[in-house]
Amino acid sequence: MKSRKTAARLGILFVGAVVVPAGILAMLAIRAIDREEAYVEKQLQQTLSTELAHVASLIGAELDKIREELDRSAPSPAGADPGSLLDSWKDGVSLIRMPFLLNPDFEILWPRLTAAAGQDQVEFLKSNQEFITNKAETPVYANIALAFQEQIADLVQPKLDDQLKKTEVSSRRIETESSPQKPDLRKPALQRQKTIKDFEENPEVQQWVYQQAKERGQQSEMRNVAPSANVLPQKQALRQESIYISELKRFNDIIAGTSSGIIPRFSRDKLTFLFWKKGRDGRIVGGLLDQAAFRNRLLGLLPALYSPVRILTILDENGRPLAVPEESGERDWRRPFISQEISEILPRWEVAAYLTDPRAVVSRANLTALILWILIVMLVVSILTGGLFVLKTVRTEIDLAKKKTTFVTNVSHELKTPLTSIRMFAEMLRQGRPPDAGKRAQYLDLMVSETERLTRLINNVLDFSRRGMDEKTYAIKAVNLNRLAEELVKDQRPRLEHNGFAVVFRPAASPLIVKADEDALKQSVLNLLSNAEKYSDRAKEIDIETAGEGGRAILRVKDRGIGVPPSQSEKIFEEFYRADDSLTARTRGTGLGLSIARRIVRDHGGEIGCRPRDGGGSVFEIILPLGGPS
Ligand code: ADP
Repeated sequence: MKSRKTAARLGILFVGAVVVPAGILAMLAIRAIDREEAYVEKQLQQTLSTELAHVASLIGAELDKIREELDRSAPSPAGADPGSLLDSWKDGVSLIRMPFLLNPDFEILWPRLTAAAGQDQVEFLKSNQEFITNKAETPVYANIALAFQEQIADLVQPKLDDQLKKTEVSSRRIETESSPQKPDLRKPALQRQKTIKDFEENPEVQQWVYQQAKERGQQSEMRNVAPSANVLPQKQALRQESIYISELKRFNDIIAGTSSGIIPRFSRDKLTFLFWKKGRDGRIVGGLLDQAAFRNRLLGLLPALYSPVRILTILDENGRPLAVPEESGERDWRRPFISQEISEILPRWEVAAYLTDPRAVVSRANLTALILWILIVMLVVSILTGGLFVLKTVRTEIDLAKKKTTFVTNVSHELKTPLTSIRMFAEMLRQGRPPDAGKRAQYLDLMVSETERLTRLINNVLDFSRRGMDEKTYAIKAVNLNRLAEELVKDQRPRLEHNGFAVVFRPAASPLIVKADEDALKQSVLNLLSNAEKYSDRAKEIDIETAGEGGRAILRVKDRGIGVPPSQSEKIFEEFYRADDSLTARTRGTGLGLSIARRIVRDHGGEIGCRPRDGGGSVFEIILPLGGPS
């Protein structure tokens, strides 16, 4: 009962301390594996978007630089024939393809449509004359987030204010009137970045802003590309819509309030760029930029287009790459992994990143997942085996402790039984009972026999405790097994008969000489005899036989007792093993007798065994080499 409770408790402990944590660990790890692919993709996306943002800002700065350079180099031609000055400007500055000059009333002074005018000049005037003379409008682009900067700040700010109120109520009260409420305003660049971020991160704000732009008559554009990375769902909804809105304006409105600039213009779906600068005399000098020189200048800013991870390039207004690295192979340039719009001066242009090998993301994720799986399996297996090992060790220890306790109880009990008998007979003899001398002699015999039992028991225990410390030493000499058996029977018969046993001794006809330690051998046979007595129930018959067969001396102890089931005929020779039969359970024992008997017999080069006896009971047999071990 108690052991079942202990086992249950151990089981609960095992489940609680080993199985459950191992299970939770495995589950967590499996969930991590599931997310691995998305995680790898997200990581890549973040790295690449940082790179793209950097490239976009480089291009932005370069555009400023180009404008400043042109501003510095632009001539201020006076007089009626500005042609030669403008031509030398064009020849000296590769970015200028077709210079032009307007008087303060936006009348074209150069180029003139004379008979000598070249093809370039005709083309230029055809495409731009109406615009630069304020007769036609052109779309002007603006970052929608920056166009609605204040409104976005107002839309997003309340949320921030709410948080601030909650956390900083006390500190706010102490603030003086002059303390800056919005410190960002003092740094316009920072403020712009924040606005764009607020805009991109709030789909509701985006929707509201686009709606407002439409109502103002501003045109929102669609982007050329559809980036495939879509792990940031909040950015998905308006992904295809450009962040730049356009508004139609005349040239004079565009240049009002500034001294120079670059205007992007679509001419038959091709984007061209017009530089202009106001001179001191009110004239406006400008030029159509050279496509090739302009594009090359921007391409020069890009880092290496090809890396084993990504391919990077600039897409033009038609979604075509400005440059293609050789290694990129066939791919759909309108489906980058991620891309970013660049500037209001470059409408519909994007910097775009493509995965060099899109399958690499999956295989990298798979590899990480595989490693994780192996680790999990190893971890769980080692936890479980470790746990089982500890459990088994604890069980064995508990069993051993239990066996030791029963052993001590049983030994004490076994010692008590013969002592009680001896004491009883001694008392009777002291009181002069029985008067009959024959009976008195029988009592004395019984006392001797009980003493032998006591000695045997004590020897068993001593033998056991000596085990492992050092080998038992034997005093070997030639012993006649017949005589040894006879003496034992003589000593034990009175007690056995007194206890109701019929004892038959059948010695072999000729002496059986073995080399043995007489006391040890006696101890073994006594253990067998004692068992025959202990495990006999109703039929109380014990036969002791000796025989010489094929060079071996055999001693058999036969009983008509409860018998040993064949399945246990080996186990009963193990230390502490006791068959849990009802009678065995009733009969006290140490579980040591047979194991000691076997050890002694084997030390003498012999063997001991047990088999069922015909008609019930068992036969225990000690077999020794005749003449003893050589
Ligand atoms: P103990 O008798 O002290 O229990 P032993 O090592 O002498 O220890 O015996 C081991 C077990 O073998 C006994 O508990 C009993 O179940 C079984 N056994 C031994 N001898 C006999 C026998 N003659 N008849 C039936 N069972 C026996």
